[in-house]
Amino acid sequence: MLNISKRLESIAHFVGQGRRVADIGSDHALLPVYLLQSGKTPSAIAGELNAGPYEAARRQVAGARLEEAIKVRQGNGLEVIHPGETDTITIAGMGGGLIRDILEAGRLQGKLEDVQELVLQPNVGEDLVRKWLVRNNWYLQEEAILEEDGKTYEILHAVRGADAMKRNEELYDSAFWQAAYGRSLRPELLYLMGPWLLRKPDIDGVWLRKWDREIEKLEKISLQMGRSDLAESKEKQKQLQRDMNELKEVLACLQTDKL
Ligand code: SAM
Repeated sequence: MLNISKRLESIAHFVGQGRRVADIGSDHALLPVYLLQSGKTPSAIAGELNAGPYEAARRQVAGARLEEAIKVRQGNGLEVIHPGETDTITIAGMGGGLIRDILEAGRLQGKLEDVQELVLQPNVGEDLVRKWLVRNNWYLQEEAILEEDGKTYEILHAVRGADAMKRNEELYDSAFWQAAYGRSLRPELLYLMGPWLLRKPDIDGVWLRKWDREIEKLEKISLQMGRSDLAESKEKQKQLQRDMNELKEVLACLQTDKL
């Protein structure tokens, strides 16, 4: 069986057993091949926009002798999916803004109507994806975070359901945080930090390390802003300081084990 990264394995883990998958931006089609070989999925589509990765995906699928089960298609986002042929969409290894735009374009084309679950792994901009899910009534059922080769990855697993809106309201309800440890969290912060990751913030310390690093990055930007005499930079620096303080407070609260 194909040897894949811990990141792709974790994405595969969230795909429901027996689901037909479309992996968008599949590159070498590693994920669909792995899903077929592991018996998790009966058929898949590997979608790719660009010629080089598209050819690489074709070679991979041919090499694994899976041309019958995995259709490699070249096209933009969800354009490669036909109605009714996909239960699960995976989109991994891109920025959150691009993932959101692909989902939104696909939604407008009616490509999501028969889809039951989304497994998404934005490299950055996870908040943009979480917001799109809420706006479009996809319930964020689980989240995971992992470290590999010095990088941190978050994986979002969303499902459909008549009660998605209500469940999302509960998931993002600031009253929960108030009751849990005596402070409410701005919705913006929940989108940024992840409502499930915030509920179990100590998984191998990965999540806490990520946010320590993010605060360090903000400190550096703030120092740069401080060197400028522009009023705009000063204002930006003040905002950064407020953001950092809020993040630090949240992290300190979470580490008091009240949750
Ligand atoms: N999904 C794989 C993974 O996680 O390892 C590959 C990630 S790779 C960094 C991103 C891939 O998405 C590239 O191969 C790129 O060509 C493709 N891509 C970018 N925009 C796309 C779009 N709008 N539709 C389909 N594929 C796209």
